[in-house]
Amino acid sequence: MRRWLKIRNFGAEMAKKRKGLTFIEIYGQKKAREIGRKISQKIILRQQGKTWEELWGRETALRIKNNLREKKLGISPMQGKKHSLSTKRLFSLQRQGNKNPSWLGGKAQEGYIWNWRLISQKIRERDNFTCQLCGDQILKQSKKRFLTAHHIDYNKNNNNSHNLISLCNFCNSSVNTQRNEWQNIFNKKMEIIQ
Ligand SMILES: [Zn+2]
Repeated sequence: MRRWLKIRNFGAEMAKKRKGLTFIEIYGQKKAREIGRKISQKIILRQQGKTWEELWGRETALRIKNNLREKKLGISPMQGKKHSLSTKRLFSLQRQGNKNPSWLGGKAQEGYIWNWRLISQKIRERDNFTCQLCGDQILKQSKKRFLTAHHIDYNKNNNNSHNLISLCNFCNSSVNTQRNEWQNIFNKKMEIIQ
């Protein structure tokens, strides 16, 4: 998510230089996507083993750190701020047609609420950082092994704590089939948890 944001900002910067045209407007969707991929690879390569300060200078690094801290505290990063014109334009382009977040009753928006991190952290805490399926306790999140808050009814818009349960990444990937059965199992578990 964070990586995607960086790419989007970078894309917006480039667009400004191209007299306000986006890559999609210049090259069409397919080519634009390819360019986006190449840029993201370059960005990743450039960032490897470097601190934010080395990459973007002190001021920007501080801003990013502040944003992250506010996010952790549950404050929206855009609170009291305004999007730049080019960002607004990008948003409106991204929301056209079936990419609109409210399309199909908000399906496209699933899980992408800004305070999701805080919600999932609360669920992990409630479950004592333990996967409720295999019983592994994961105190430190890593790329290989991490805990997620799983939506019991598979509706990612239902972020009620009764509908969320901690699962490790291994278990989480195995509950996508036989959904009804898993739903029953987890609902029974929740009777004990809450
Ligand atoms: Zn597990």
